[in-house]
Amino acid sequence: MTAAEPEPGVIPETPERHSQPALPSRSTVWAVFLAAVAMAVLCPAIDTLVWVMSQPSRGFVRHESVLEMLPMVGAGSLIAIWLFVFWSLIGSFLNVVVHRLPLGESVVHGGSHCPRCSSPIKWHDNLPVVGWLRLKGRCRSCDLPIAARYPVVEAICAGVGTAVYFRELLSGGANLPQRTPDFLHSGVLRLVPNASPDLIGLYLYHCCTLCVLLVWGLIAWDGRQLPGRSAVRVLLVAVGLPLLFPSLHPLALGWQPGRGEHLATPAWLLNGLGVSLAGGLAGLLCGLVLNRLFGRLLRGDAAGRSGLPLRPPQTLGLGLMLVGIVFGWQGMLGTTVLLLVACLIQMLVWSAVIDWPEMPTELVLVAATFVHLCLWRQLTTSLGPWWPGVSPTLACLAPAVAMVLAVSLALVAITPASHRPTSPGAADLDHRGDQPA
Ligand SMILES: [Zn+2]
Repeated sequence: MTAAEPEPGVIPETPERHSQPALPSRSTVWAVFLAAVAMAVLCPAIDTLVWVMSQPSRGFVRHESVLEMLPMVGAGSLIAIWLFVFWSLIGSFLNVVVHRLPLGESVVHGGSHCPRCSSPIKWHDNLPVVGWLRLKGRCRSCDLPIAARYPVVEAICAGVGTAVYFRELLSGGANLPQRTPDFLHSGVLRLVPNASPDLIGLYLYHCCTLCVLLVWGLIAWDGRQLPGRSAVRVLLVAVGLPLLFPSLHPLALGWQPGRGEHLATPAWLLNGLGVSLAGGLAGLLCGLVLNRLFGRLLRGDAAGRSGLPLRPPQTLGLGLMLVGIVFGWQGMLGTTVLLLVACLIQMLVWSAVIDWPEMPTELVLVAATFVHLCLWRQLTTSLGPWWPGVSPTLACLAPAVAMVLAVSLALVAITPASHRPTSPGAADLDHRGDQPA
């Protein structure tokens, strides 16, 4: 390759990386990618086998019933692979959004190019995950290293979109509380000719919520400022959609699948609005409490480094507000408990493993929301009055309070003395925690 005729680069517009923790290596990208692919291919087979074995009239799996199932497994795998590719492309788009949104640039116009040699990126070099792996993580023309975060985000996006497809759409809503799993509309063959529009709506609503949380989390990871106007727009859309499609709030009282799907009555509009507003308000309050807790404990020294595996929250309240609007206040509280459990796990792993990356709490929220979505129904049914569900009790506040106490104690306990503020400036506890420089 000559300097006169530069080959196209491969880098999506790269933000400055100086504030990033150590980047995952190629093996990490391969591991995340292969795990996501394996899930997309294996899940339809396991799903179908479980379905066959659960058929009471058929008893055990017979030879012919397995053969009958083969087209179903094939169709399920095809849809899963299609969705996998689709969500990896969405992940690629989210990488661009994360970079351009804080800069106030358009997320639609302008192609990607290398920030150093300005070479535009050819489409085959811009393929999610594969493009990065083929080029071994370097720009084709100027050899500038490309952050492994890009393919990891794409693979995670693909994996999450496919997993929610299996858990929510294909299972007929087996993860949703307050509605009977719709087995009539579940399974691949029944999904296509006999689609359930409320389930498809819920699937898209929940996946888009996870995407927004991921974008906010990555912007927090970069230590950048999220534009308030864009956040308000997202919240307004999240509140407005259930007014048009009431089935987006499975916890709303009186909702029955198939009823009122196409005709939103005034009572339904008020009900949906009430669920959204109560959830948003509860999320905001919860976020303020956690902001105060984490902000105080993770304040750190003058450089903003606390020596702890979590970053002080920036937009956690906003994220919990969105979770509250989408999942109702019960879902928000359940997600918060899982968030605190995840923070505790992060702290325990961090204290046992050297070089474990420091995480912003906003990114931990993405993981907690995903797990909560997948286990929503199981948590509310198996933990009964101790988990915020359909008919909440005062006891359901106990796990949240207990987790706040546990995480606070753990944070204090694992703060190594060597990481506590030592310099005179750093010891000033009135100093607000700086954003990572
Ligand atoms: Zn370049």
